[in-house]
Amino acid sequence: MKFAYIILTLACAACASAQSFPPVTSEALQALIDLDELRGGAQQLQDFAYAYPDRNRVFGSSAHNDTVNFLAEVLRSTGFYNVEVQPFVELYSGGDSALTINGVPTNNTLFTYTPSGTATAPLVAVSNLGCATSDYPPQATGAIVLISRGNCTFAQKVTNAAAARALAAIVYNNIEGTIAGTLGGLGEYVPTVGTDLATGKSLLASLQNGTNLIATLEVNSVLENRTTFNVIAETKSGNHDSVLALGAHTDSVEAGPGINDDGSGTIGLLNVAIALSNFTVTNAVRFCFWSAEEFGLLGSTYYVTTLNETAPQELAKIRAYLNFDMIASPHYAYMIYDGDGSAFNLTGPAGSAEIESMFEDYYTAAGKTFNATAFDGRSDYGPFLDVGIAAGGIFTGAEEIKTDEGQDIWGGEEEIAYDVNYHQAGDNIFNLALDAFLLNTKLIAHSVATYATTFDSLPLPASLSRRHAREMKMRRDSYAGADIHGHFHHHCGTEDAEL
Ligand SMILES: [Zn+2]
Repeated sequence: MKFAYIILTLACAACASAQSFPPVTSEALQALIDLDELRGGAQQLQDFAYAYPDRNRVFGSSAHNDTVNFLAEVLRSTGFYNVEVQPFVELYSGGDSALTINGVPTNNTLFTYTPSGTATAPLVAVSNLGCATSDYPPQATGAIVLISRGNCTFAQKVTNAAAARALAAIVYNNIEGTIAGTLGGLGEYVPTVGTDLATGKSLLASLQNGTNLIATLEVNSVLENRTTFNVIAETKSGNHDSVLALGAHTDSVEAGPGINDDGSGTIGLLNVAIALSNFTVTNAVRFCFWSAEEFGLLGSTYYVTTLNETAPQELAKIRAYLNFDMIASPHYAYMIYDGDGSAFNLTGPAGSAEIESMFEDYYTAAGKTFNATAFDGRSDYGPFLDVGIAAGGIFTGAEEIKTDEGQDIWGGEEEIAYDVNYHQAGDNIFNLALDAFLLNTKLIAHSVATYATTFDSLPLPASLSRRHAREMKMRRDSYAGADIHGHFHHHCGTEDAEL
């Protein structure tokens, strides 16, 4: 297969012989990162999406498979990597929905993993946040229930609605913006859609005024097992008992092509991997391109759990895992995962604090202001934390509103989301902040050069790290369940299952 986007020429200046390759240095690796190549890569991913009517790169789609094949082919053609395309099967959920209230079409979004169904019934508001069965009045039976987001998982709310023998559920957002909820998998659920805060408030006010509302909800849910693929590329050279792993996710949501989320991380990593082929490494470097992150970190979870079951000694060889999910948000902030727990009290395994420091030093040297983002496991580093591997990464912000503090520090427009096109059709090549894209890819290069040379700056993995990992997972889970409006966490992947 031939691709319009060819960046291989970069690698071949030093192709004469393996012996002529110099040891990698941060400066030399960063010097090979080129903005035109990054833009070309982002364009290529968009072209894959736009070649099909759905215009997305959702896992298992043709455009996503094209992405996977492209990555594998480019990485193989460097000759520098052993490339594995790792298949796995996961449940895909898609479809469409329609909602009318008293005959008026009403804004709604399909919940992931909702069952199908059609119902016309009175709309009944539940008490509180619908997290307790006692929140559901007797009138909920045979009705369509209206529930606020917040405090417990969507799955909990919808399980309660089903137990109350409601016919369907509408969950309204408790913050501005589109609600994109997931039930996290199959369960004892009723057909469920989300709606926005203003719609939810208005419906609730009508019900509280005693107005009778009749809702008609039609949910056509497509649930099918799909085979999809991780791409794992490890340097042929270097010490394979002492591995630096890095990851980005290759899939988008249904709504758009996913060029910032996470085309930016994907192309950033790919360009660093290509550049690295001009050097020698001391420690092996493993570039991981995860599928199905948007459906709950499925690719990275599959990879880590499979290794844990079949070859746990291989996991122990991973000295650090670095994650890059959204590195070029249009109203970006430079945010580093809070590995030392200083800002969010969620500390990572031994070594995570040192990784955070390494990124802080990079931004400081570049004259950039940075902040911490919660180390809550809501992207593909979560499964690595769960098995006690030191981890870190950066993030430029998603749907949260950039805070006043952020406004002062980073400039830019006030009262606007870091990524106004988060999980939407507009997450295309025009949604990238190119200065952040370039600097953050150079930061990736710096981290690769640093740890490909030596892990001396990281403590040896502690024997207690797995116990620590279990304790921290419990705290991360409770953090996720309690936090509704956190400004500095990544709303990719599983988060919406939690809130
Ligand atoms: Zn993402």
